[in-house]
Amino acid sequence: MGQRIGIFGGSFNPIHIGHLVIAEAAWQEFGLEKVIFVPTGDTPHKDMHHIPKEMRYRMVELAVENNPHFAISDIEVRRTGISYTVDTIREFQKSFPGETEFYFIAGTDAVAALPSWKYNRHLLELCHFICARRPGNERNIKETIRYFGDLGHEKIHCLMTPELAVSSTILRHRIELGKSVRYLIPDPVIDLIEQEGIYRR
Ligand code: ATP
Repeated sequence: MGQRIGIFGGSFNPIHIGHLVIAEAAWQEFGLEKVIFVPTGDTPHKDMHHIPKEMRYRMVELAVENNPHFAISDIEVRRTGISYTVDTIREFQKSFPGETEFYFIAGTDAVAALPSWKYNRHLLELCHFICARRPGNERNIKETIRYFGDLGHEKIHCLMTPELAVSSTILRHRIELGKSVRYLIPDPVIDLIEQEGIYRR
């Protein structure tokens, strides 16, 4: 059997404990060789709150640097125009041995939206999905699995991990209000946010 690689896409605006905890759990529970964080480029359908993609990338880089089985890729940040996950997975496939299996890590909100993703069936043919439960998004993941039929049953997996009711949105608001985000965001990332004065009103 080939090695398993985790791919964790997100806007990471900013990266937080919710992301890091599920990446670590996915690594362990699914025997992943490593988890590669892939910060998105600028996407037309998501407000990036005027934070340049390079800054989101830098925050992820600082958050993952002391974990030997975490890595970061600039594959999407480098890309111009609309970026599809299916293209990202295809690109990774080219740089790993043929028998490598890819596991895309996502929260329940993202997996519930999978039926509306472009090229979703093709994506499920290329990789597995590891779904982390997220408080406030209790939508039944079984519905999504059923939607894709056999492919869903075979490729969408649930991750057992403590649920953390934290989101980048909540954290941006806390920073805007001058509230502490210590322990919710890694210290080096907080230092960068403070130095650059981002998310402040
Ligand atoms: P925002 O509040 O700006 O929408 P977010 O906190 O959802 O951001 P993203 O970077 O958009 O963060 O998320 C990347 C991936 O991580 C998505 O698949 C999302 O579902 C998942 N995720 C984020 N936070 C959590 C969490 N607390 N628990 C489980 N999954 C999470």
